[in-house]
Amino acid sequence: MSETSPRLRAVLEGIPTYRPGKPAAAGCQVAYKLSSNENPYPPLPGVMEAVTEAACSFNRYPDMACSGLLSELSERFGVPSSDLAVGTGSVGVAQQLIQATSGPGDEVIYAWRSFEAYPIITQISGATSVQVPLTEGEVHDLDAMADAITDRTRLIFVCNPNNPTSTVVHREELERFLDRVPADVLVVLDEAYREFIRDVRVPDGVELYRRRPNVCVLRTFSKAYGLAGLRVGFAIAHEPVAAALRKTAVPFGVSQLAQEAAVASLRAEDELLGRVGSLVCERIRVVDTLRAQGWTVPETQANFLWLRLGERTVDFAAACEQAGVVVRPFPGEGVRVTIGEAEANDIFVKVAEGFRKAS
Ligand SMILES: *Cc1c(COP(=O)(O)O)cnc(C)c1O
Repeated sequence: MSETSPRLRAVLEGIPTYRPGKPAAAGCQVAYKLSSNENPYPPLPGVMEAVTEAACSFNRYPDMACSGLLSELSERFGVPSSDLAVGTGSVGVAQQLIQATSGPGDEVIYAWRSFEAYPIITQISGATSVQVPLTEGEVHDLDAMADAITDRTRLIFVCNPNNPTSTVVHREELERFLDRVPADVLVVLDEAYREFIRDVRVPDGVELYRRRPNVCVLRTFSKAYGLAGLRVGFAIAHEPVAAALRKTAVPFGVSQLAQEAAVASLRAEDELLGRVGSLVCERIRVVDTLRAQGWTVPETQANFLWLRLGERTVDFAAACEQAGVVVRPFPGEGVRVTIGEAEANDIFVKVAEGFRKAS
């Protein structure tokens, strides 16, 4: 055996590893997973049926063009199929967007802290991350992001609402920002939590896409639609970008199970959005309770909330786990807590109250 190992690309060195939310721990009492922004509701019977039927033919490759899902999405959003691209979750599509636009010497701008996949997929491409700090209020600093644009900028992510801080940017400030972005720079509006937004000042990215050729909207079936385990998301973008997404797709990446589940979910949208409504009610209840306990909680328009705990982050996460709820700590910064089933939320607010009194 030779001592020499295969030569790997230097850009892989020091890539931060994606840290999935911890699973609900076995052992200690009941355990609830509030660490990955998943939907706590089990799959709808109709969606299960569609998946079960698709499972009968998984000896076959899936429909590579995702034609059934594309025509459903095309009708639902009123966009031509040619402006749609489906991928293995919206993270998969985000990676394709970087592959399509950015390489060594190019710059990708995004807020920080924001979605932890952005630095990873940027570094893999060989492009350089330009991280623009959030404001004091944990919101995207769009003026600073526009100031950070150079002639090497190729792509800008705007995560709205922002993961993990849950805050949003509003129509006027986003339009003003987009006016400052050169036409040859792609702006990706990551709207993974769109269905949870109740603030009418937040624009629908699809409306912005209609008027702006350099805007691409990312959506996912993982959160509101409850299909996280099946891996399917999509982009709405103008023809040249959508065509580039078709070129960079892993062939047959989106399984037939995922495609059928997504179609069935769109057809059962009323019921699924009803569940989203219940989660939004829970969100309001939890945030109000925390604020009454004295916590500072940034305005959330997503299915999670953010507590900036600084040095107390790890202790807080440990206290939650002890009580049977697993949250997502960002050591030294804060914790992100998913809004889950009412019992889980009850346990969480109780832990928060005890922690507040003790400190
Ligand atoms: C959860 C999430 C996604 C969606 O990921 P999928 O790959 O579609 O499961 C995308 N962006 C953000 C900001 C998210 O939080």
